[in-house]
Amino acid sequence: MSSEERSLNFIEEIIEADLAEEKHKSITTRFPPEPNGYLHIGHAKSIVLNFGLAQKYGGSTNLRFDDTNPVTEDTEYVESIKNDVRWLGFEWANEFYASDYFDQLYQMALQLIDLGLAYVDDSTSEEIAAQKGTPTTPGQRNQFADRSPAENRQLFEDMKAGKYPDGSKVVRAKIDMASPNMLLRDPIIYRIKHAHHHRTGDQWCVYPMYDFAHGQSDSIEKITHSICTLEFVPHRPLYNWCIEQLKTFPSQQYEFARLNMTYTVMSKRKLLQLVNEQMVNGWDDPRMSTISGMRRRGYPAAAIREFCDRIGVAKRDNLIDVGLLEFCVREQLNKTALRRMVVFDPLKVIITNYDQTSEDLTSENNPEDPNGGLRTVPFSKEIWIEKDDFMEQPSKKYFRLAPGQMVRLKSAYIIKCESLVKDAEGNITEVHCTYIPESRSGADTSGIHVKGTLHWVSAAHAIHAEVRLYDRLFQVEDVANAEGDFKDHINPASLTVLSNVYAEPALANDSPEQAFQFLRKGYFVQDPDSTPTKMVFNRTVTLKDTWAKEVKKG
Ligand code: ATP
Ligand code: MG
Repeated sequence: MSSEERSLNFIEEIIEADLAEEKHKSITTRFPPEPNGYLHIGHAKSIVLNFGLAQKYGGSTNLRFDDTNPVTEDTEYVESIKNDVRWLGFEWANEFYASDYFDQLYQMALQLIDLGLAYVDDSTSEEIAAQKGTPTTPGQRNQFADRSPAENRQLFEDMKAGKYPDGSKVVRAKIDMASPNMLLRDPIIYRIKHAHHHRTGDQWCVYPMYDFAHGQSDSIEKITHSICTLEFVPHRPLYNWCIEQLKTFPSQQYEFARLNMTYTVMSKRKLLQLVNEQMVNGWDDPRMSTISGMRRRGYPAAAIREFCDRIGVAKRDNLIDVGLLEFCVREQLNKTALRRMVVFDPLKVIITNYDQTSEDLTSENNPEDPNGGLRTVPFSKEIWIEKDDFMEQPSKKYFRLAPGQMVRLKSAYIIKCESLVKDAEGNITEVHCTYIPESRSGADTSGIHVKGTLHWVSAAHAIHAEVRLYDRLFQVEDVANAEGDFKDHINPASLTVLSNVYAEPALANDSPEQAFQFLRKGYFVQDPDSTPTKMVFNRTVTLKDTWAKEVKKG
């Protein structure tokens, strides 16, 4: 479904009305990540929404790093965020940093002080909390609220000059200690923090609080539509209050429901814990909900964009089935993935009547793509098939290989099992077959019809590989609301590594980003852990949704 076919979401309705009334000549949105972690699929939703709206209405989008908390932020995160936004397919009009506005924000706070709308409070954070009251009882102002603008100005300048230790003073906006909205009960707008900032270094020891910095950064950039998630609804009056008092550009805040997805966590704080406690292998572990994890796992950017479009823009919190994301991934990969044959659990088959050394057969790269072309697949006397594609005593409807039974080898010949070889313990070590020379795929004159088709790899030409199969990282649907610590619900079997895998040689010449469908096995992509002697592949997603069935079985 293209965005033209969808009905308008509520933000689009607002924008179209604003443009019709000429409230704005064009729209400006922003994506404002705090550089304190890697982006996740929830951020992708926000990126696709903000950049998508600007694209649709001919406006522009800023990438703004909301870097007002010096303690948790890092340049590594800035780079990863830029990389992820670009990979998703978007380019920002401007790259801005809230920290670039520290001077302006400081001046704005002084302006509020001069207007008698802000004061320096020496109370401890406990005292401030106690004086705030409760949602049902009004708060109390303390004696510091009566300080004169001149005294407040001097104190704030001294705070900035580093004369006071952390936590000894804050600047508060003077709004309403009886407001039913607790956030309006003289909220803190500046605090002292003697900490090194990733961009401004040691230049500042006072830092603006989120609500003050965020809204005013929007105004400085003349953001017309500032889109955030629902938890910011109660912050909107404060956002508006600052703009009204300071008479800055009237940016407007709109809220939508954040994306929550089944079987995963999506808060940077929790993702950081998984990384730090080594429950996953870094931020880009393919099991993570991070954009970098999904990229490494082989999710195409187009599938993530499609997913974000399909879920729409909700006004109420909900939990989206991760199966929908996987559905979008499969749909996309089915069109682009090159078909290859890879044997995960090999069993040797010897074709006793094959007397050439080898021959080059061909097979379609992608039957879904008329321009996909062909690849060469070498065939020889010894091949690998999957162990579970052979049964010594087959059940009735087993159409794969069994003594006396025939199967087709994909893009090659029909073979018939004649005998088998076992070791001392009785394990089958080799299957001996004959092939029908007239049955070659594409030139089959044998007249024989078989029900089973197997994938296979020529033993002499096989590449040794490792595959990594992933399952859900968590065992419960709604991880955020499950009992106990979220880490109690980690799936101990979320990663299976198969290291004795044989792949057809074409894989060695494909590009590292190429998506594959390993026949009958799922969609795969090469992992950067690959070495010249061992290719490593991640399973992006299975061919069909086996998860839905598992859930039903219980
Ligand atoms: P987290 O709780 O994961 O740390 P955050 O909201 O603190 O997320 P920010 O870096 O502050 O992360 O977010 C940047 C932008 O992305 C914000 O506009 C935020 O609303 C949006 N965003 C974050 N998580 C989601 C989500 N799950 N769904 C939609 N938008 C999100
Ligand atoms: Mg945040």
